[in-house]
Amino acid sequence: MRIAGIDIGGTSIKVGVFDGDMLVHKDSRKTPFDSPDAVCDLIADMLLGQNIQLAGVGTAGSVESFSDTVSASNLGWEGVPLRRMLTERLGVPVWVDNDAQAAIMAEWHDGVCRGAECAVYLTLGTGIGGAMIVAGKPYRGKNNLGAEFGHMIIHPDGPRCVCGRRGCLEYYASATALKRMAGGLSCRTIIDRAKAGDKAMLDVFDAFIRELCIGMNTLIMVFDPEYIVLGGGLSGAGEFLAERCQRELERIFADTTDPLYCRVRIARHKNDAGIIGAALLARENLL
Ligand SMILES: [Zn+2]
Repeated sequence: MRIAGIDIGGTSIKVGVFDGDMLVHKDSRKTPFDSPDAVCDLIADMLLGQNIQLAGVGTAGSVESFSDTVSASNLGWEGVPLRRMLTERLGVPVWVDNDAQAAIMAEWHDGVCRGAECAVYLTLGTGIGGAMIVAGKPYRGKNNLGAEFGHMIIHPDGPRCVCGRRGCLEYYASATALKRMAGGLSCRTIIDRAKAGDKAMLDVFDAFIRELCIGMNTLIMVFDPEYIVLGGGLSGAGEFLAERCQRELERIFADTTDPLYCRVRIARHKNDAGIIGAALLARENLL
């Protein structure tokens, strides 16, 4: 059985074709911003002649199950019937989920939270995406709109977030936030300097970690996950990031009577997480 995994992001569109667990074809193109139709036409073109039987999609934005549509601010999409549009073009059953859901599936399948009963995924990028596994399955909520951890309010009097609330985690703990906290320096520069022991950059990074761990503390107390997996651009900081999060959580828990069982881990799958997870979701939900 040949299954396509499709990753729709704000920068690129990636497709992969899997025969069993084997990746047999891969392609990546720049995301067209003309219209959702242009995106679907491009995907059909990238999969031409691939003889697929199923397709799964991990897309930026949120996928509402009730209306079966996708809304994604960074793609300029509102209520796009993506599943129907792709089913028409590809001529096979299509499953659509958000990109964080695809990423956690890839990690759950053979990555750092493999087979976990309960795990939380945070994408640290321009914003903060989220997904979770509960009882060994993706947790979707009533309308598939849950796990938006980036919009947990952590400072109620904070600045207005893109979502309209005030003081969301995403405002304080995304890659965008880290950059802002260092006066506009790139995340790579901040992390390289902090790793090299630059005191000012370490202070900025640790202040950032404190904000991120306010969110993580809530996730741990609510869900008791075995792992919090970090993905997205900022996860490129690797163990430097994971260790500092773990240490800050230990500091928070040291003042409580609660044991800290949760482990912070860096996602193993990098660029291919979306296509792998999307194909797994298609197999799990359409077969
Ligand atoms: Zn928000």
